[in-house]
Amino acid sequence: MDVHVKGWVRTKRGNKHVNFIALNDGSTINNIQVVADPNTIPENVLKLVTTGASLAVTGQLVESQGSGQAVEIHAKTIEVLGAADPEKYPLQPKKHSFEFLREIAHLRPRTNTFSAILRMRHAMSFAVHQFFNNKGFNYMHTPIITGSDAEGAGEMFRVTTLDAKNPPLKEDGSVDFSEDFFGKETNLTVSGQLEGELGALALGEIYTFGPTFRAENSNTTRHLAEFWMIEPEMAFYDLEDNMNLAEEFLKYLVQYALDHCADDLAFLEKRLLDEEKNKPANERSAMSLTDKLRFVVENKFERVSYTEAIDILRNSNPNKKKKFQYPIEGWGTDLQSEHERYLVEKHFQKPVILSDYPKEIKAFYMRMNDDNKTVAAMDILFPGIGEIVGGSQREERLDILSARMTEMGIPHEEMDWYLDTRRFGTVPHSGFGLGFERLMIFVTGMGNIRDVIPFPRTPGNAEF
Ligand code: ATP
Ligand code: MN
Repeated sequence: MDVHVKGWVRTKRGNKHVNFIALNDGSTINNIQVVADPNTIPENVLKLVTTGASLAVTGQLVESQGSGQAVEIHAKTIEVLGAADPEKYPLQPKKHSFEFLREIAHLRPRTNTFSAILRMRHAMSFAVHQFFNNKGFNYMHTPIITGSDAEGAGEMFRVTTLDAKNPPLKEDGSVDFSEDFFGKETNLTVSGQLEGELGALALGEIYTFGPTFRAENSNTTRHLAEFWMIEPEMAFYDLEDNMNLAEEFLKYLVQYALDHCADDLAFLEKRLLDEEKNKPANERSAMSLTDKLRFVVENKFERVSYTEAIDILRNSNPNKKKKFQYPIEGWGTDLQSEHERYLVEKHFQKPVILSDYPKEIKAFYMRMNDDNKTVAAMDILFPGIGEIVGGSQREERLDILSARMTEMGIPHEEMDWYLDTRRFGTVPHSGFGLGFERLMIFVTGMGNIRDVIPFPRTPGNAEF
């Protein structure tokens, strides 16, 4: 049978008598082997068949003699669509560091690792929509440019068309934003939640899935300045319903990866194993990548209150031996990622849902508990990551919400539209945010969030 294939050369090896070309079209991690006989394929063509070149091949599909592939193509014709000068093409078949690959992020999707990650990003995005669609949620598009600066989830990026060198000034010398494009100060959104609530209080159950932006100067392996977030928001859900949905959702996504990304997962699992061989034995993880994924699907997440977690942390070995960078002093302090990871990786050794945090360390819209000290918040903590989901039951009682806003210095006038939902037909409701790239770190086993998004934006870096 004659077949016709097109793709990019991963490798070519061989000798005077025969050439083996590994060709890949990006549809899968697996290459097709093209066998090229110098008697059939002219030498000047074969010379241009180098790593990175693109080819159109016609030939016979036959059972392979060699091991490693079931079939191969015996080439009748090869057309070089685009050569890739081996002296200049940066992606030669050898190990490249992820740091180097970030510098050539425009080419790194052509590597095995990044093509696997990008295919899995697609699969996970699709699974997100499938999960919510199956449940009857509506996908809602919340604005990217926002006029509200009370979202409070982080530092914002200003959106303006004013001349930075010569902005119009008010009499007191401050910038006059009434002359700006929108006639007011605007920013890139840090979260679609507040608008999502408007949707939930009309449609019942909605979710958003879009880009969010935070100008926080966090140079960590878990933070991006531009990341994608999934934010479901549900009317008539209390905190427990919220946790149940979040747990079911995460398990669904991980199971989807196991069911639909087997080849890419097998490749990434082997990559991780190779990477860990270079680590000291005590830093290697006991579980393989797919073991970790199965573990999440098969185990109930541990549910603990913030207060219980503080007790565990206060009495923990690293705290007593002063191994934490931020020692646990007492009730009320915010948890750092070292604490979250201790709870997940050392103490419980499974995903943990922490709930009922002190009101002082959480946002104004979270529902006040009867103790008047804690709010109905929940964070889900994952091994190797820390916080992957943050959510809460929202304060639906107008008087309490309004008092809380006054306490926290949030101007009522600007939030009038938000308060209207509590004035008219308010109902208990809840929601959460899942950072898509944090999920991607988990399912791919990658160590740095910059390597699970095509073009990472971090402080000092917005190339491409
Ligand atoms: P963290 O404490 O890790 O900075 P956060 O408390 O600021 O997170 P939320 O405001 O609750 O996070 O955002 C919801 C989710 O969005 C988080 O659980 C996380 O998965 C993700 N997320 C938050 N900030 C970032 C970021 N800078 N880059 C990537 N994902 C993020
Ligand atoms: Mn943050």
